[in-house]
Amino acid sequence: MSRAYLGIGGNIGNKKENIQKAVDLLKNHPQIVVSAISSYYETAPVGYTYQDWFLNIVVEIETALDPYALLEYCNDIEQNLKRERLIRWGPRTIDLDILLFDEFVFNDEKLTIPHPRMCERAFVMIPLYEIAKNLVINGKKIEEITKNLKEKEVRKVENI
Ligand code: ATP
Ligand code: MG
Ligand code: MG
Repeated sequence: MSRAYLGIGGNIGNKKENIQKAVDLLKNHPQIVVSAISSYYETAPVGYTYQDWFLNIVVEIETALDPYALLEYCNDIEQNLKRERLIRWGPRTIDLDILLFDEFVFNDEKLTIPHPRMCERAFVMIPLYEIAKNLVINGKKIEEITKNLKEKEVRKVENI
């Protein structure tokens, strides 16, 4: 079994419901066990900023799938929730990214692990730190990476 962390977020429609559906679809897979789920976080968009706020979580899973099969299943969930890719970093009902997969480090045209932009994103690192306090990413402690991001706009949603 491998342990992986997924970043899940969206900013169209009922954001909480879409995230919950994505988590339910992960739980439905016979070779995936969802072992931890962060709180919900509200975040300002990055990149293409003329769009609604995002809701994001991070989940920890145990899985017998290999990284490519996991990516494929994540894409299936996105399609299931009717994600359309219109603008890069633009609005979407749901986005599922593989952040970490065991200690794997690799990079090809389909898959880069660790996720190449995760360490600069408060909306990824803060929920990840909530559920995994002792990770080391690219040789750096998660605590150190996260400390430097705290100023950025990300707000834990208490009553959702
Ligand atoms: P970002 O990657 O900056 O968060 P995004 O999630 O909006 O942007 P997508 O349109 O969801 O980008 O993904 C584009 C492609 O990225 C996918 O087709 C997928 O093959 C590739 N990809 C590479 N590495 C990963 C990863 N670790 N997790 C998910 N997709 C990845
Ligand atoms: Mg993404
Ligand atoms: Mg993505």
